[in-house]
Amino acid sequence: ATPVALLVGTGRGAQLGILIRGPQALEQADAVRTVVLDKTGTLTDGRMSLVGVWAADGDEQQVRRVAASLEQDSAHPIATAISRDAAGLSPVEDFRSYDGAGVGGVVEGRPALLGRVGWLREQGIDVPALVHGRVDAEAELGRTAVVLAVGGQVSGVLSVADRIRPTSVAAIRGFEALGLRPVMMTGDHRGVAEAVARQLGIHEVHAAVLPQDKAAHVSALQQQGQKVAMVGDGVNDAAALATADLGIAMGSGADVASDAADLTLLRTDPVAAVDAVRLSRATLRVIR
Ligand code: ADP
Ligand code: MG
Repeated sequence: ATPVALLVGTGRGAQLGILIRGPQALEQADAVRTVVLDKTGTLTDGRMSLVGVWAADGDEQQVRRVAASLEQDSAHPIATAISRDAAGLSPVEDFRSYDGAGVGGVVEGRPALLGRVGWLREQGIDVPALVHGRVDAEAELGRTAVVLAVGGQVSGVLSVADRIRPTSVAAIRGFEALGLRPVMMTGDHRGVAEAVARQLGIHEVHAAVLPQDKAAHVSALQQQGQKVAMVGDGVNDAAALATADLGIAMGSGADVASDAADLTLLRTDPVAAVDAVRLSRATLRVIR
């Protein structure tokens, strides 16, 4: 028989915007001691804005235009920041989006790539030390810098910034109060990740993690002998949510993520994840 307390917990959860998949979620919420939090869209609001453009030849408008053209069909938050309000876009031939790396295509007759500096180097682009310096300096400020290469040569750097959610600090403190050690995981550059982690008081950061490697990072933490909760918001996070002992999907938009999760949060607020763990534990104590 379904214990009444579980029904009550489920009902209370619904009031708080927390969907509990089943009784095993309560057991896992009790057992977890580490919580892995995705950065972009979870600890930050994921709505990035363009904060800087640098051009190798001084023509910043041209860099912006080519970059915005490349990004017009990408749904990534970085793409939205770069293409929002841009004028005079050119059509892109052979557009491709590379998960966790960037975008590419042919713009105005020339092959162009825009994305992570490490990925551009893997594509055989020679990235000058000056450009590395710019990317690192932006990262120190907590900004993400992406590099534009046109015709095989670096032509510019665009930086975008995301906002830390106002409740993220409270969520980290809340998890610690429940005995969970917070760990940040992100595909972003190490410098950006560390700047955000520093502001939140998170001491363990897994940065530059490719989407397909997120689940493996969760497994590695589990192999250290701790039960692991994972909080994520996106399609990118589905495998990691499924691998975690307790998967917590945040936000109603990410159907793929919530299919893989034990708890789904309807509020896009990381404090809701803390509430979910606390409620699950309280419900379990009543059942026992
Ligand atoms: P996160 O895990 O933080 O959500 P992603 O895995 O989506 O980040 O992306 C990792 C990195 O790849 C980004 O920080 C950026 O440098 C690069 N990147 C991904 N998609 C794009 C894009 N559409 N345009 C430019 N750069 C991108
Ligand atoms: Mg994300």
